[in-house]
Amino acid sequence: MKKIAILGSTGSIGTQTLEVVRANPDCQVVALAAGSNVVKMEEQIREFHPLVVGMWTEEAAADLRVRIADLDVKVVSGMEGLLEIAAVPQSQVLVTAIVGMIGIKPTIAAIEAGKDIALANKETLVTAGHIIMPLARECGAAILPVDSEHSAIFQSLSMEGRTPIEGSTHIEGSTPTKQTCVEKVLKKQNSIEKILLTASGGPFRGRTRQQLEDIQVEDALRHPNWSMGPKITIDSSTLVNKGLEVMEAKWLFGVGLDKIEVVVHPQSIIHSAVQYTDGAIIAQMGTPDMKLPIQYALFYPERRYLSGKRVDLFELGQLTFEKPDTDTFPGLALAYRAAEAGGSMPTVYNAANEKAVALFLKRKIPYLGITELIGKAMDHHHLIANPTVEDILAVEQQTYEYMQEGLSCK
Ligand code: NAD
Ligand code: MG
Repeated sequence: MKKIAILGSTGSIGTQTLEVVRANPDCQVVALAAGSNVVKMEEQIREFHPLVVGMWTEEAAADLRVRIADLDVKVVSGMEGLLEIAAVPQSQVLVTAIVGMIGIKPTIAAIEAGKDIALANKETLVTAGHIIMPLARECGAAILPVDSEHSAIFQSLSMEGRTPIEGSTHIEGSTPTKQTCVEKVLKKQNSIEKILLTASGGPFRGRTRQQLEDIQVEDALRHPNWSMGPKITIDSSTLVNKGLEVMEAKWLFGVGLDKIEVVVHPQSIIHSAVQYTDGAIIAQMGTPDMKLPIQYALFYPERRYLSGKRVDLFELGQLTFEKPDTDTFPGLALAYRAAEAGGSMPTVYNAANEKAVALFLKRKIPYLGITELIGKAMDHHHLIANPTVEDILAVEQQTYEYMQEGLSCK
């Protein structure tokens, strides 16, 4: 029986994870956490019977306790609740399907408690990869990517007959030593020539900056291929999502930024690829469906049956590729700049984007203001070279405040 806990169970990844659980009777949910949707949480509790659940506010938790008074389920709240759920003794894997840097501390707690991580929450690695990856190596925890591109890279690396991400008793049936884990990482770095990180290009691919001036919230929420939460959908349209994924890939696969190339591939069939030092390119293809990477992360190294539409190459006819237009979509260039600066700069990039997207969704700033504000926040920041988790969270807060002040001055 595979026992899992999910942070963000009511969201896009969270609910799709539960669909995967539903189709795999040997998978059991032992803990769930969500923000404020008590109605959905109640439904999930009644269907999946977790032992403990968390809501972010105490008010929502209190409401939930009343709703499920007939059941024997512990309800917790706040960061303490998230930490308890992340490290719940009965689980083997934590699915981090929460949005934002709030995922950092629970991920650390889970790794320290010996859990493997099915990682959807990219912000954790973007901002704290320098803390998370060494810790996972030290604790023998596997970080299994859920993000479709990273899962594709992971699958392409697994095709090479090697286990790309260290740790875990799931890999090769025994717990590797710290040293063998490090060796595996080094070997892998030597045989990767390039990671080809694919991007759909979003709904505004091919447009000029002038054409982007009047973009409304509804336009940006229409992704051509993927159905996702609102924040990541906006991020896909600005290419900031790809920027975050470049940083995520850097940490996950231990490669330099010069080895990560973004390739615009509008059909979203090749989910990413690895080019090896002998010139071979190994890619993973499939219909755009997050359930595949979720299921692959949960049952790795086993590949299981998944229902759904298959890619029909004849129907598809052709696959096309383009270079990203970083002049029209500066979000990607800013990400490389943040990643090159390193330290606390990726935190500023991420926090400024979060705030800017929230402001755009509230119709307080124009669409092009999103990347403009990220650039301004980065210019204003004094870099911390090797930030602790507390530094990261403080920089996040300072960035939010800086952006709020800038807005009130207008
Ligand atoms: P979403 O907005 O649909 O869901 C977020 C979930 O987190 C919800 O259940 C919400 O209740 C919960 N949450 C928010 N704040 C919380 C808090 N303070 N405490 C507890 N729970 C809280 O988001 P999503 O699209 O599912 O994305 C989740 C993460 O996965 C993000 O980091 C995103 O970048 C990443 N991701 C998503 C997709 C996708 O297809 N949706 C693909 C790749 C990566
Ligand atoms: Mg992705």
